[in-house]
Formats: sequence, structure tokens, C-alpha cells
Amino acid sequence: MTQQLPEWLDPSPWLDGGGSSPADVERALGCDEPGPRELAALLSPAAHAYTEIMAQRARTLTQRHFGRTISMYAPLYLANYCTSGCAYCGFASDRVQPRRRLEPTEVEKELDSLKGMGFEDVLLLTGERTSHAGFEYLLECVSLAARRFHAVGVEAFPMTTREYAFLANAGCSGVTLYQETYDPFQYDRLHRWGPKKEYLDRLEAPARAMESGMRTVGLGVLLGLSDPVFDAVCLLRHAGHLRRIHWKSGITISFPRLQPQAGNFTAPVPIDEAQLARLVFAVRIVLPDVPLLLSTRERPEFRDGMAGLGITKMSAGSRTTVGGYAGTEPGTDGQFQVSDQRSVPDICEMLRGRGLQPVFKNWDSVFRDGEAGGRG
Ligand code: SF4
Repeated sequence: MTQQLPEWLDPSPWLDGGGSSPADVERALGCDEPGPRELAALLSPAAHAYTEIMAQRARTLTQRHFGRTISMYAPLYLANYCTSGCAYCGFASDRVQPRRRLEPTEVEKELDSLKGMGFEDVLLLTGERTSHAGFEYLLECVSLAARRFHAVGVEAFPMTTREYAFLANAGCSGVTLYQETYDPFQYDRLHRWGPKKEYLDRLEAPARAMESGMRTVGLGVLLGLSDPVFDAVCLLRHAGHLRRIHWKSGITISFPRLQPQAGNFTAPVPIDEAQLARLVFAVRIVLPDVPLLLSTRERPEFRDGMAGLGITKMSAGSRTTVGGYAGTEPGTDGQFQVSDQRSVPDICEMLRGRGLQPVFKNWDSVFRDGEAGGRG
């Protein structure tokens, strides 16, 4: 069953079939408080001729709000069990591959490997909630991570406000939950079965996380699944809606692009690197103070070029397999293919060579558990 969009999300007043003119693009570039209308203009065909101007604007805004810093993080895949049937995912329940989860001692080994690589910010990932990897398991993994890392994020399944509060109390500082696509028809078609088919439950989960006191919430769409302009305007409206109501928490935005994966699903609306770059520039222009992330899904040369040009946070040395860092399970497929396989020192060297500073830690939890000094 497809879903009617809530009024606060509906992008239709700003989508006019790509009919923006060069004058609309120039107005958007000159606007003091750009919003959905300006974003749609900056993503229209008329904006192609303004790509260089957009890139320069993105660089200026990025430096104004973030200096020359790039925050570094690493993903850690805890489990590849899943009951959902997302057509685009290598972990979907109909993919034939070994399934497993990391046991707590293995999680500790993986965390220690990442710590040894210099990371202070880790993102823990699982599939949809299963009996093998449910809430209690995730909570335990968050506790293990929070003893070692200053920033612990989770990218898992939608939870209740109460569950998010438990995670926050255990040391979770961020929740990442991509809507994948905001197009309700495409969403229904691509999420073939399982809990992830519930569009509204997923859409409302970031608000529940913020309500629970979570410090940051990461939003995004999986680029390639649907019309990128429709999705980008919805993403901006979603971010604006959350920021208005839950202003104490922060937002981050990622730009995951569909990559080859077990199942060989191909993108219905492929977007190339030039389109992705323009999307990053346009989002930076309309959200100048929001951290923007780019993962190792993208080629090294593209990531190098985008660092500091809108992008302010990057993963490095990533493995998308369960047990990929300490080598406890070399036999499973990753969720998708990693394109940038360079080591952490190599990426740091690249950033420094571009006049950028890799940052591994930029905050501390001083009063966690009521104790000055945070974690022991
Ligand atoms: S995207 Fe997430 S919910 Fe969907 S099949 Fe993959 S792991 Fe499961």
C-alpha cells in the first residue's frame, strides 16, 4: 500500500518539472535564506552552466562554518541478518550468503582494531531487527563502543522513543536512518517485504530519536533509487521540520549512492558523479551549517575533489563485511562494494596535501552517567 505524504514533507509546490530558468538559478544563488524553491532551481538543468559558481559558493560556506577540517569516522558492521527484502541491498533476506553476528568478544576486537587505527567516532550497523540482532544486542554493543570511543552512532532499525533513550543513556550520540527514497510509490515497490516496508514508521523515527535526547540524527536518501530532485527537496523539508521542533539536536546529511551488491540490483534512476557533485554543492548552499558526509562508496579521486567542497565528514579504511577489521570473518559478502580502499594514513595524507585537517575527535561527553570526566 502506498503512502500519502504529510503536508510538512510534500515537495510538490516546488517541483515544476525542471522548468527553472537561468534567472531562477541566479536568484537562488543570490538568496539570503535559500529554501526548497532555491534548491529545486539549483538542481534543475538550467543550473548546469553554474556548476563552478556553485562549487565556489559551497567551498566558501564550508570554510566559514567548518574551517578546513574534515571529521573522520568508521562504520562497523555488527550483523548481516535481516528479515526485510530491500531490492537494492546485499543483506536482503533472499540473498544467499552466510549470516552471522559478532559476539561481544568479537565486537571488542573490532572496536580495538578501529581504535588502533586512530578512530574516535564509530558507526555501528545492523539490518532490520531480528532475534539474532535485536535491541538488547545493539544496546550491549553501544555500551562496549562507548567505553572506547567518544562518538558512537548507530545505523540500524527504527526504534521507539524509549529505546532511543536507552541507547543515548548507554553512550550513543547519534542515529543514522536514511529514508532511502521519499517517493512513496517507489518506496513501496523497492521494499518488497519486511518491517522496512512501513514508510511512515521509518519517516518518523528520526523525530523519535531527537525526542529521546539523541545528540545528532543523520538523514539521507540512497541515490539512484528515485528522482533526485524530488528526494532532495523532501530531504530538505524533513531536515527543516526536525530542526524547527527538535532544535537542541543536530542534523547531518549523507550522500550514499547505489553501488554493486549481492543481488545485482541496478539503479532505476542512476546519477553520475557530476550530478552528485552538484547535489552536494546545492545542499551546502541551502544548509550552510550542516555536516555533510561522503563515504568510501565513492572513488578516491571523487572523494579527494569533494573534501572541503561541501563535504565535512568522511569515512576511511572502511569494511562493509561483518568482522572486517580484526579479520574474524573473511567469508561473508559486504552490504555493498567499497570503492575507496585506501588506508587511513593515506587518506589523512591526501587531506593534509589539500590544506585540510583530518579531525578524529571534536567533542567529549563530560557528564555521562552523572560522572565528571565521562567514560572511565
Ligand atoms: S537495507 Fe537494511 S533493512 Fe533493507 S535488506 Fe538491507 S540490511 Fe535489511
